[in-house]
This record gives sequence, C-alpha cells and structure tokens, in this order.
Amino acid sequence: MAVVERLIRLNKVDGLVAGVVFGPVFSRRFGRSLGINPLPPDRKLCTFDCPYCECGPTSQRDSRRLDSQPFPRADVVLEAVDRAIASLSAGGVPMQSLTLTGNGETTLHPEFDSILRGLRALRDRLLPAAQIVVLTNGTRLDRPAVRAGLECADRCVVKLDAGTEHVFQQINRPLEPVTLDAITEAASGIPRVIVQTLFVRGAVDNTADGEVRAWMDRIRRIAPRGVQIYSLDRRPAQAGLVAVPRADLEQIAERLRQQARLSVDVYGNED
Ligand code: SF4
Repeated sequence: MAVVERLIRLNKVDGLVAGVVFGPVFSRRFGRSLGINPLPPDRKLCTFDCPYCECGPTSQRDSRRLDSQPFPRADVVLEAVDRAIASLSAGGVPMQSLTLTGNGETTLHPEFDSILRGLRALRDRLLPAAQIVVLTNGTRLDRPAVRAGLECADRCVVKLDAGTEHVFQQINRPLEPVTLDAITEAASGIPRVIVQTLFVRGAVDNTADGEVRAWMDRIRRIAPRGVQIYSLDRRPAQAGLVAVPRADLEQIAERLRQQARLSVDVYGNED
C-alpha cells in the first residue's frame, strides 16, 4: 500500500492532478481505480464552469482556444499509465478500473481517440479484468472522434445535473452555446451509458419538485444502463452551496426507480 499512498501524495495538488496518473482510489462505483488525467498538469480545461467543481473555477473561458493548450501527447499519457500499472502490479495492488478523468473535460484532448485505443490495448495486455471508465460532461459527444474513442470504453458516465435549461445554465455554466437538449440527445446515443447527477442546494438548487420531474423526463429519454446520484463531499469552487442530505437523495432515487424502472444508486462521502 505504500506505493498507493505515494502516488496519491505526489499527484494531487490544490484540486488539480499534477501529473498523468493518480490514485488508485477506491470507490463503490468503480472499485480500486487508477485515475488518468490526459489534461495539462497545471490548469483546468473544461467547457463547463460548474460552481461546485473540485478543480476550482474554469479560468480559460474562450473555448476556441482549448485546442491549442499544452496537452500531454497520447504516447506520453500511455507510457505513464503503463509504468503505473507495472509499479502497482509489482506491489501486489489489485485494480478494477482505469478511469479517465482529471483536470477538467477529458474529451477535449485532441488525441482522445488514440488514448482510448491505447488504453484498451494496455488493459487487454496487463489488466484484462479491469474496466475502462470515461467521465464526461457530454459537450463533445457529437464529435465522431470522441464517439470512436468511447467505443473502447466499458463505461461512459455522462453528467446530467439539470432538468431545465435555466438550471443547466446555473449549475453547469457552459462556456459555449451548448444546450441541455443537445446533451440529452447525444447521451441517448451512447450504448450502455450511465448518467451521473450531482444534487445541490443554496446558491443553486436542482432539487425543487418541478426540476426533479424535468430531470426524470430526460433520464427516461436517455434510457441509461444506470443512474448515479450524489451531493457535495468536498469544498466547492463557489461558496454558498449546500450538500443535499442523504435521505433526500434516497427519496429522489426512489422516485426515479418507481417511474423509470432503472438501476439508481446513491453515493456519499464514503463511496
Ligand atoms: S464538468 Fe466537471 S470538470 Fe468541468 S467544471 Fe463541471 S465538475 Fe468541473
């Protein structure tokens, strides 16, 4: 476990991942998972500016400049993952998943497709029982190269924090003219997609009855393999946000189970 602790200690700085790999971290969702950050180590890059983001505010606000950022090359990302797997395996650390996440939106990487193909090859060679998981905000799902890359993933987890466009603009604060309808439509086209939703109250509230009903309508349109709901468990980027009690999350989950007959899981700090 010393190897694990060392990787965690060396690679997380002020909410940003200071390298390509981090963890592994354990979660009920993905088991023991090696985190993979294909984004630059010194900045957050995202098409959203969610007020609750653990990486802090999105400072690069001109999304037209995202393509020219200093992304690590695909071969550099894959070499780092290869080394980390070798080191962890030598230390006897089992891993259940390889999770693409990190300093923002991973599908922004211009070689996203190559990274996913390389990861699948690495997984098949070194960790055949592990799952490849991609967390995404869904804003690049309309791009053929992103869709091609996602075909190499075992699980694509798409963020859907709102039922109405109004709340979407408040809770995700998109930096480009993407709509909640477009994301809903794109997510519905991903095979075996999983939806992930953060509920929050305070300066932004997505738990009002009408909002939850609109969110459930969208979930039904997407028809995901499962839904994961949770609330804040760390200091958010913006003050004035309040975590939703677990009992309230359980109520929302039960409403969705009853109405959509889906697998819905509630996660908390310990998960
Ligand atoms: S989509 Fe994720 S990375 Fe982007 S701002 Fe929201 S929470 Fe942060």
